[in-house]
Amino acid sequence: KWDATAIGEVLIDFTPAGAGAQGNPAYEANPGGAPANVLAALAKWGRKTAFIGKVGDDTFGASLRRTLENCGIDVRGLAVSGEARTTLAFVHLAPDGDRSFTFYRQPGADMLLTEAEVPAELAEGSRVFHFGSVSMTHEPSRSATLAAAARAREAGALVSYDPNLRERLWGSLDEAREWIRRGLRLAHALKLSEEELVFLTGETDLRSGTERLFREFGTRLIVVTLGPNGCYFRLGEADGRVEGYPVKAVDTTGAGDSFWAGLLFGLLGHLDAGGTLDTLTEEDVRRMAAFANAAGALTTTAPGAIPALPELEKVRELAGERR
Ligand code: ATP
Repeated sequence: KWDATAIGEVLIDFTPAGAGAQGNPAYEANPGGAPANVLAALAKWGRKTAFIGKVGDDTFGASLRRTLENCGIDVRGLAVSGEARTTLAFVHLAPDGDRSFTFYRQPGADMLLTEAEVPAELAEGSRVFHFGSVSMTHEPSRSATLAAAARAREAGALVSYDPNLRERLWGSLDEAREWIRRGLRLAHALKLSEEELVFLTGETDLRSGTERLFREFGTRLIVVTLGPNGCYFRLGEADGRVEGYPVKAVDTTGAGDSFWAGLLFGLLGHLDAGGTLDTLTEEDVRRMAAFANAAGALTTTAPGAIPALPELEKVRELAGERR
């Protein structure tokens, strides 16, 4: 059995790296893809993980496979496309530090993952199953993602979902909303940003927005990330805020993924102790969210996503300080 399996995009993020010798913009080729980042953190903290996705038959694809392997992630579910190249994305940094993305995906290999390429043992043999919405923008990866999450849920996995809305990858925003909501039906634990909560519910208020999702989809645990301010959570009828940790942030890439890995790490501990989602208490969630905030905060203090993932002891140290 695997502790956590994730399905979705794995790609190369070209991150701004100053200027080259001729004064032209330089970019660093970093491994990226939110589901893979989440697994990289869990693997770093000692969990048994597996990735399901697709790369091209090219040097970038080979390097992504090596990166995942070096993280200790099982890559039996990483398929290779004979038709499309490894997906690329360019990251743009606004002066206020906000990031936007340009994807080179016409199509990209990640979109071509088929249901038949998902190893049955991974969909059905993992305690936590995690997915997002970037792999749902196009067929056939949309069906592969939804079918795998449904199988995992049926097999008793705790299903985790971070929609990670990338508006420009969708044909229209209505289409994005429809498919992202389709994913909500399968999720037990949901991570959102404030913008995504507004996008999905039309509510700007954290309480009413998450309450609406809980009523409509029955999502047991909903967590909304608030950048430096930590996070908000809803566990059924209970809700609350958990403060973030002040750090000197240099690059927020991967903070959301590391945060969510922190939350899943806590949930796995709860499962280890014989607990279920139904036995989760508000106090448990506060403790897990503090750990997640510490993981997210530390990830912002170094450049890149995977290279910036903190050691387990460092996260524990920071999260333990307040209690
Ligand atoms: P992403 O932008 O990576 O897709 P996201 O919107 O979920 O994901 P953020 O809200 O920026 O990401 O960050 C996730 C978590 O990381 C926050 O909830 C918080 O715990 C931590 N974090 C992010 N930025 C900072 C910061 N500047 N200082 C301290 N903690 C931070």
